[in-house]
Amino acid sequence: MTFTAPAAPLTLDNSDRLQLQPLDMPERLLLGPGPSNADPAVLASMNRQPIGHLDPAYLQLMDEVQTLLRYAWQTKNTLTYPVPGTGSAAMEATLANVVEPGDVVLVAVKGYFGHRLVDMAGRYGGDVRTISKAWGQAFELGELRQALETHRPKVLALVHAETSTGVRQPLEGVGDLCHQYDCLLLVDTVTSLGGVPIFLDQWQVDLAYSCSQKGLSCPPGISPFTISPRGLAKLDERKTPVANWYLDTTMLRKYWGNDRTYHHTAPVNMTYALREALRLLAEEGLEARWHRHQTNAEKLWDGLEDLGLKCHVDREFRLPTLTTVRVPAGIDPKALTRHLLQHHNIEIGGGLGDLAGQVWRIGLMGANSYPKNVDLLLEALQRSLSALG
Ligand SMILES: *Cc1c(COP(=O)(O)O)cnc(C)c1O
Repeated sequence: MTFTAPAAPLTLDNSDRLQLQPLDMPERLLLGPGPSNADPAVLASMNRQPIGHLDPAYLQLMDEVQTLLRYAWQTKNTLTYPVPGTGSAAMEATLANVVEPGDVVLVAVKGYFGHRLVDMAGRYGGDVRTISKAWGQAFELGELRQALETHRPKVLALVHAETSTGVRQPLEGVGDLCHQYDCLLLVDTVTSLGGVPIFLDQWQVDLAYSCSQKGLSCPPGISPFTISPRGLAKLDERKTPVANWYLDTTMLRKYWGNDRTYHHTAPVNMTYALREALRLLAEEGLEARWHRHQTNAEKLWDGLEDLGLKCHVDREFRLPTLTTVRVPAGIDPKALTRHLLQHHNIEIGGGLGDLAGQVWRIGLMGANSYPKNVDLLLEALQRSLSALG
């Protein structure tokens, strides 16, 4: 037996010739649920050669990213680092590390991403229990207490900013409850980091994750993760190894900690981008940034009302980063999003899951949350709505 080489490589045929043109992508204003536009300074930071991921300059960069991330999240957790991949990878990192087969995991579901947590927790062997709320509402503390009493979970998972509904879940007091019931608190901050107030340590959150392409104005591809000392204690007591090699914190802590042991090739240029995005956030200051997001969201809500449109969520629980607007009778929601893209170069999102066909989703995140963009969108919406009758 010998190995035989193929006679000739496959070739591109005529119908594939378009692929030989240099890349040409339209530049859009991304006012949907994500990705949002990357800040030009972030893009510029990526436009340089990668260096080795064990180079002293890179190790220094890793320290800076960790420090800036702790600030953005308001946490002192030593293990606060970004993982390669989008927000779902960091989501998976939280569950993979602390859920052992048979652990009761309680997920408070009030939208699409709550269901994703349920799916993932089950894949890691969790005994998943759920409580649910209509899409557009938030849980009350009493409801969470009742569920903790009933299910006695090892982990309570909640979505802070539910991007499918536009609801902000208040978290004050939830950490105290979790301590009382001896369970870990896991929070999705994908659509809140960099736009909505978060106080991870004050709220006694044990595990959290986010993404780069929403409130931080980076391209997608690198995602913040953090674990508290309580979370690490549960990780250290595991009887079974973490069932996800790539996201295993017991190994990654040796790379992100003092040992700097090789684990995987870091996404070097994405780390440049994240560092620049976090630097911009720190330069602006968290409070100023939160205030900017709130003010521009209120401008949007008022403008939508002036157009005769209604927001889906009560003002008290509305996210400043993501607004759900009800589709008025007689308008085809997909025709409107198509019209906005084709005629105004603006992307907004449609409804997901229970809200499919009922709402549009408008994002004002990070570098996109400015009055100019609110004005552009309102004007375009008005034109598109009248064009569609
Ligand atoms: C976008 C989003 C995710 C998933 O993040 P990806 O970057 O798309 O993988 C998870 N949770 C929430 C609340 C989100 O909005």
